[in-house]
Amino acid sequence: MIAPPRAELLSLNTATVREQWNLRQMIEGCARHGIRGISPWRDKLGELGAAEAARLIRQHELAVTGLCRGGMFPAADAAGRRAAIDDNWRAIDDAATIGARCLVLVVGGIPAGSKDLAGARQMVIDGIAAVLDHARASRVPLAIEPLHPMYCADRACVNTLDQALDICDALDPAPPGASPSGAIGVAVDAYHVWWDPNLPRALERARPERLLAYHICDWLVPTTDLLLDRGMMGDGVIDLPALRARLEGSGYRGFHEVEILSTRWWQRDPDEVLRIVRERHLRCS
Ligand code: ZN
Repeated sequence: MIAPPRAELLSLNTATVREQWNLRQMIEGCARHGIRGISPWRDKLGELGAAEAARLIRQHELAVTGLCRGGMFPAADAAGRRAAIDDNWRAIDDAATIGARCLVLVVGGIPAGSKDLAGARQMVIDGIAAVLDHARASRVPLAIEPLHPMYCADRACVNTLDQALDICDALDPAPPGASPSGAIGVAVDAYHVWWDPNLPRALERARPERLLAYHICDWLVPTTDLLLDRGMMGDGVIDLPALRARLEGSGYRGFHEVEILSTRWWQRDPDEVLRIVRERHLRCS
């Protein structure tokens, strides 16, 4: 029997209530519901402004478990790749302003008109390499989020935890006998990695310094939309307590960030959503 998670490790990824609330309402909502962590998306952060968001987050004593998201490195030409690097540079600055524990990278897919998957993957590595020093200097760890392979073409051509860890090891190798620097690691999202037969081995391989974020929701059967039909914890087929136990076994001690992109939950009263999130976090994850 796996012990329930600690309630104070719950974090709200703001995508969960993005259609109902602005960032100010999300921050106040977390405080009202006793949720101690928050992970904003950049569109909402841009509306409020990073400085004002930072002030409100400090006022309510929330931990910022991530900023979503940087990435999207591959592009058809050099100007496009340069623009992506500039955008990631700004994202790192915003993440530093709000004290985010990491910048989540959804790395991007294949450029329009291309069939060169290997080339796209190399562009991802080159893009991350181009911003890593700025991230390190800004004390914003970069968290590569492997996405389910159904998003390989258009959102992320990094699709397994092993693939993400390989990139970390290539760009930021740990000296023999020492720990990785923590400047780059992974965001483990249950929705994206639960199916992977190599996941247990990949989590065993991951050093604690590489495990920067943990995102949770559930995989519904059937799933009616590839993007916007994520389930509430407990409503699907992912053994979330077992996955959390594996992460903890690998040394992860961070937050459990609930990220539910769902047209169903976006129709609900957001205060009701947060009440259910809190309850399901304890009971089903
Ligand atoms: Zn995620």
